[in-house]
Amino acid sequence: MSDWEEEYDEDGAAISRPSSVVKVQTSEWRQPSFGDGGAGCEGTEFFGVKRGGKEPQRDSPWRNIRDQHGEENRGEKQNWRDSDRGRGTGPVSLSVETSMIGRVIGRGGVKIRELEETTGAKIKINRGDYEGEVLIFGSSDVQQKAKDMIEELISGNAFSRPWLHNDSESSGMKNESCWSASDLQASAAPTSAPIDWTAIRQNREKYETLKWHDLPALRKNFYIEDESVARRSAEEVRVWRKENNSIFVDDLKEEERRTIPNPVYTFEEAFAHYPGIMENIHRVGFKKPTPIQSQAWPIVLKGLDLIGIAQTGTGKTLSYLLPGFIHMDQQPVPRDKRGGPGMLVLTPTRELALQIEAECNKYSYKGFKSICVYGGGDRRAQIKMVTSGVDIVIATPGRLNDLQMNELINLRSVTYLVLDEADRMLDMGFEPQIMKIILDIRPDRQTVMTSATWPAGVRRLARSYLKDPMMVYVGTLDLAAVDTVQQTVLFVQEEEKKQYVFDFIQKMEPQDKVLIFVGKKILADDLSSDLCLRGIAVQSLHGDREQSDREEALQDFKDGRVRILVATDLASRGLDVHDITHVFNYDFPRNIEEYVHRVGRTGRAGRSGMSITLVTRGDRKMAAELIHILERAGQDVPEELVLMAERYEKHQREKEMFPAKPRGGRGGGRRGGGGQGRERNCGGGWREKDGFRGEMTWHI
Ligand code: AMP
Repeated sequence: MSDWEEEYDEDGAAISRPSSVVKVQTSEWRQPSFGDGGAGCEGTEFFGVKRGGKEPQRDSPWRNIRDQHGEENRGEKQNWRDSDRGRGTGPVSLSVETSMIGRVIGRGGVKIRELEETTGAKIKINRGDYEGEVLIFGSSDVQQKAKDMIEELISGNAFSRPWLHNDSESSGMKNESCWSASDLQASAAPTSAPIDWTAIRQNREKYETLKWHDLPALRKNFYIEDESVARRSAEEVRVWRKENNSIFVDDLKEEERRTIPNPVYTFEEAFAHYPGIMENIHRVGFKKPTPIQSQAWPIVLKGLDLIGIAQTGTGKTLSYLLPGFIHMDQQPVPRDKRGGPGMLVLTPTRELALQIEAECNKYSYKGFKSICVYGGGDRRAQIKMVTSGVDIVIATPGRLNDLQMNELINLRSVTYLVLDEADRMLDMGFEPQIMKIILDIRPDRQTVMTSATWPAGVRRLARSYLKDPMMVYVGTLDLAAVDTVQQTVLFVQEEEKKQYVFDFIQKMEPQDKVLIFVGKKILADDLSSDLCLRGIAVQSLHGDREQSDREEALQDFKDGRVRILVATDLASRGLDVHDITHVFNYDFPRNIEEYVHRVGRTGRAGRSGMSITLVTRGDRKMAAELIHILERAGQDVPEELVLMAERYEKHQREKEMFPAKPRGGRGGGRRGGGGQGRERNCGGGWREKDGFRGEMTWHI
């Protein structure tokens, strides 16, 4: 039985709801009024309105399914609860002919932005070949408003809004469509009254003001610049930034140049006026701020929004945590009157959430309570904690959104928001949940965002949710190569990989600790059981393991009960285990970013580390990027890798010049001998693996 069954209190009220059920419950959306003509359209892909990708029907089919499972009553209750509070229950999806999408987006994205501004909804567009999908996020009111407006926009064209045709004529299939062009023109043209955008915008502003009007203004600026910091010359600061991981600070506020605060060199320079914070720092025994802390603290303490481009291991968590403590403590509304947490940290994975919580728990400030909310954890316990009053919530977006939709958490009280590892959250597809969560957080909050990279998606997120931020880059803007790690690349055949790992493990010293990365969950299981059978203590970490097993595996590895952890890329980012001496890339990662993240698991906290990466012929397309990373980190680049990159590039060029014929082309097919022969002729190559093996050193 699913935990759906168990998550009702004695009164039958839903106290929790698994995410799959949240989806089902989306039937709360109001079906567009189909005329009878719509029936004639069945099966046509011409234009339609869908919910969750399904054609809407009067008798919602999910009800029947739910009936079969005996769950309808609970669904009804839940529906009532949701409609009662006017909350959205998932994105509304409109499917729109691809040629019409431009109408919704507008030139340069103007229309879509206007739509978002005026309605308060978030709109996402997925284009397909013939048909696109417009996803509308927000409360049901907001969704409905946005949906109406989108329909209006589209209705400017004759081939739109088929559901407006209530007359029987329109139900006929003519010209391979339900409606003739004249029918469509006749029906669409007169109905579309012009949209009064100004009125809608004003209404929205009124609504926004009303929504937050009862909240007192925030206090944000708590920075008292130390005299020694203020005295620092521009040149001194420039040199300091260069020598400290090439820190670069930028002000993203348009049309105004603000003074970028000087970095602080000591904890006292940042927190002398906050003895509670200083006590904590003395207790944990840190000597001086890390570069990102030096530069981020003055900015965040001033109350400005911040984007920190930095990896885990740089001290980024404290760069937002300590100013966050002060921010929460100094708000005009006392904690016990807020009715919810003051700080929310959104982070992509359970492991990171737990790690941030552990970091948070190292510091005791004014008795602040924190709680970790993540999918896979004990939901009941999390709900109990959340409802019993907490100050800091550290959450993965999926579970938090689930609690939010069930009104189990009040986010109106949040005044300090952190989007941690934003790039990873986007990679994991959390954008819709993040959007929904942030809609419930007051707009004048302070927001800090961290990310290891700065791709377009993260920039978009920053534009949407941060206000005039300053930005601190640690290292360079693109991939930061890890130069505290000696990186070795070995060329092998796929079937030799296991032997390489076994050889490596045999040569490990007692103080060594290795994180072995594999590409697939099943391989993580397979390799770890092979090692177990050989009597080697090992743990494995991947997404298919129970959360408690994952936590235990990580703890065993951290505490040194096992010195070998076989993991998927779940562990490539953020895992903070200081004493990993080696990273072993059994499989090459999917992309070079993951390579950098994996390698960065060793060589931490001032230590040096080693990485060993097995490369097979199948990884050849990554060769050029790997060379770039190795060069930037001052590592030796194996000649074989250069040859591999050259061969791949040549191969790609040839492919472009002589596109393969479907049948009987060169070599007679995809795996034809032509390609391999070509590679062999290039000299060096894959099969000379013994040469590489001869040079194999493990540095342990
Ligand atoms: P983070 O990048 O936030 O994951 O931090 C990595 C590790 O560095 C954590 O274990 C922190 O406790 C530690 N740390 C944070 N700040 C400092 C500091 N100023 N000096 C030494 N270690 C620190």
